[in-house]
Amino acid sequence: MFRSTLASAARIEGPALFTPVRSSVEIHPAEAGAGVRFRRADIAGAPEIPAVVASVPGGGGPRTRNTVIGGGASVGAQQAVQTIEHVMSALAALGITDALVLVHGPEVPILDGSAAGFVRAIREAGVRRIEGAVEPLVVGATVTVEDAPTTGTGMPARITATRRERPGFSFAYELDYSAARGAGAMEATPLSRSVVRWEGDPEEYATRIAPARTFCLKSEAEMFRKLGMFPHLTQKEMLVLDDATGAPLENELRFPDEPARHKLLDLIGDLALLGRPLQADVVATRSGHALTHELVRRLS
Ligand SMILES: [Zn+2]
Repeated sequence: MFRSTLASAARIEGPALFTPVRSSVEIHPAEAGAGVRFRRADIAGAPEIPAVVASVPGGGGPRTRNTVIGGGASVGAQQAVQTIEHVMSALAALGITDALVLVHGPEVPILDGSAAGFVRAIREAGVRRIEGAVEPLVVGATVTVEDAPTTGTGMPARITATRRERPGFSFAYELDYSAARGAGAMEATPLSRSVVRWEGDPEEYATRIAPARTFCLKSEAEMFRKLGMFPHLTQKEMLVLDDATGAPLENELRFPDEPARHKLLDLIGDLALLGRPLQADVVATRSGHALTHELVRRLS
């Protein structure tokens, strides 16, 4: 597989999600072999943090809401970068193997909750092929990681990576909150079972996956607000779904299965923490960030 970087620097700005600040990132071209690296541009002398699973601090449980790198003993918590998954997803889907992401603050901007803004900015800056090749990691025996039943659903979360003979990969995400909503909830809603799949086509990613926004249930949003989180975001700026009906509050869905598409977007971003492409068929069911990190650790 080819290596690629950006043809020029891309700059993206907006509010963050977990930290009440505005933030901006600059994505710069990098040399072949550098990989994707992040650095806190607001901290003098802050080291570069490779975007690989070894940079993810341990201790995140199944309810981990975003992907953080740095903050381990060797890096210093104040130099961590939060919510890297959407920009990582866009970079991976557009085939960028090498880039330096400068973050002016503790967190990558959330934009509209999707990766569309990152895709747009990277494409405007241009994607440039560079010398050298990147070897995919070929999965041999099947690897499965599993969580205890996720809150409310009574069903475990699971990700399976299986051997694939031909080059390339397929990533599928199965979203299913139906058990959490009781046996009476038979009608199709954005939270009933839906499966979405991607096999590496950048254009398909840009049109079908990148625009899907992050979401949370109304009960979760209320809990977060009690904890003082997201004080700066309204339901218009953040996709909040009614627990019982799956209907968006003060908002409209971009796709009937937008939540599943967003979970696939996250999966792509977190699998990129492998630092190289994967040759495997991956099926994720009800999983979140922490479980994908665990899979990547097992594969690394
Ligand atoms: Zn996300």
